[in-house]
Amino acid sequence: MSPASPVLQVKGLRVEYPTRRGVVHAVDDISFDVGAGEIVALVGESGCGKSATAHAVLRLIAAPGRVPGGQILFENEDLLAVSEARIRQVRGNRIAMVFQEPMSSLNPVQRIGDQVAEPMLQHGLAGKAEAWQRAGQLLARVNIPDPQARLHDYPHQFSGGMRQRVMIATAMACSPRLIIADEPTTALDVTVQAQIIELLRSAAKADATGVLLITHNLGVVARYADRVNVMYGGQIVESADADALYAAPAHPYTRGLLQSVPSLTQPLGERLVPISGQPFDALNRPGGCSFHPRCPQAQPRCREQSPPQVQVGASHRVVCWLAQDGAAEASAEAAC
Ligand code: SF4
Repeated sequence: MSPASPVLQVKGLRVEYPTRRGVVHAVDDISFDVGAGEIVALVGESGCGKSATAHAVLRLIAAPGRVPGGQILFENEDLLAVSEARIRQVRGNRIAMVFQEPMSSLNPVQRIGDQVAEPMLQHGLAGKAEAWQRAGQLLARVNIPDPQARLHDYPHQFSGGMRQRVMIATAMACSPRLIIADEPTTALDVTVQAQIIELLRSAAKADATGVLLITHNLGVVARYADRVNVMYGGQIVESADADALYAAPAHPYTRGLLQSVPSLTQPLGERLVPISGQPFDALNRPGGCSFHPRCPQAQPRCREQSPPQVQVGASHRVVCWLAQDGAAEASAEAAC
């Protein structure tokens, strides 16, 4: 279900990178939104455009990359149209990020307390003593034992999972309206992954913060989302409430993703089935449906005509000729 009051609305977003061989369309006309207290996942293989989308939201697309079209409405303000000074106020304050590898985001020679306190000082939200005290409260919120003492420790004294908890505490420091979590659990084992996403989830619900979760892991991570958008070749090919998507994935790529990654409920010994082939060369997008060279159900028209977007449920949309055929059959049966 689409949220009543979206924190973030992305409309018709495009991101492209000119290269000597041509223009790479990394993000190709995508739209989605994130509501208060909601976790929305963007899922797909490496290079599908999900991280470029996250960077575009924060206006972090480095030249020669560019955003030639679309709107990024954050609390109804178009971030693509605001000044550089304004976007600096928003970044780390109203919108915070959690990255994949906390060790590269944390300063190895700075105490944890100083690092968690830093965004509050940077944005003038607290004095040093107050920010330090709040940093201790934040470590407690992310379930770090003995938080006041651990404020004095350095990153190398924390495990990988604990460091990611510190990153979430830092992201929460300024009470953001939106957290963008870019592959936040990739470096962690499955049990710790679940704990970290659960933590993000409870923080989102308690503070009515929206979370945009970027992940390749449809099996474990996206299971904690409220809604899921599956991306392939820079486009959203399926989007649905998470329950609807897991109950009846409609796009062959989504089904392939589900069969190719481990899940929390997978029976022991069950084999994973990789999706055949490779993502296409970004400068040579296949005609018709761009997934057709890898699709086990491709038909002749899939090679020639782009598939339509089809509504297959209240919150469930899919871009595929098979869904179009299914919808046509269903309406013919209803008419009989
Ligand atoms: Fe496969 Fe055709 Fe659907 Fe594309 S449109 S996913 S090629 S069946």
